[in-house]
Amino acid sequence: MLIYSYVKFRKKKSVIIRMSEENFKTATFEEKLEMFYGKMSEKQWNDSIEQVIYMCRDYCGKCPSHEGTGEESLAFCMVGKSSVITEKKGCLCGQCPITKTMSLRWEYYCSNGKAIGLSQAGK
Ligand code: SF4
Ligand code: SF4
Repeated sequence: MLIYSYVKFRKKKSVIIRMSEENFKTATFEEKLEMFYGKMSEKQWNDSIEQVIYMCRDYCGKCPSHEGTGEESLAFCMVGKSSVITEKKGCLCGQCPITKTMSLRWEYYCSNGKAIGLSQAGK
């Protein structure tokens, strides 16, 4: 889920990325997470969330499960469940670039929780 940091780091030729671009594309979520986890400052982490939120506005922000609920939060794949969304009326995560970039394999993060938690739960 830290692809925007990935892009930023890659442009800066950071040492964080040790995998070829081709291998990165085919890596699992867990492999990608391993590349970033614990290697970002708090500011970098917060910047990543902001950038995912920006992207997410066109997906979570427009999906039938989100619309009309009064929920203002986004990027549930990173931040976890919504306290407002209670019904699964459709999920646009599969169309979101974050899904492909980070090899996310779940959906309905607003109800099911963040990707890291789903991974750790063996789902
Ligand atoms: S996680 Fe899926 S169902 Fe939930 S708000 Fe986002 S796009 Fe909609
Ligand atoms: S994968 Fe889903 S929750 Fe995550 S940024 Fe994309 S639309 Fe939002």
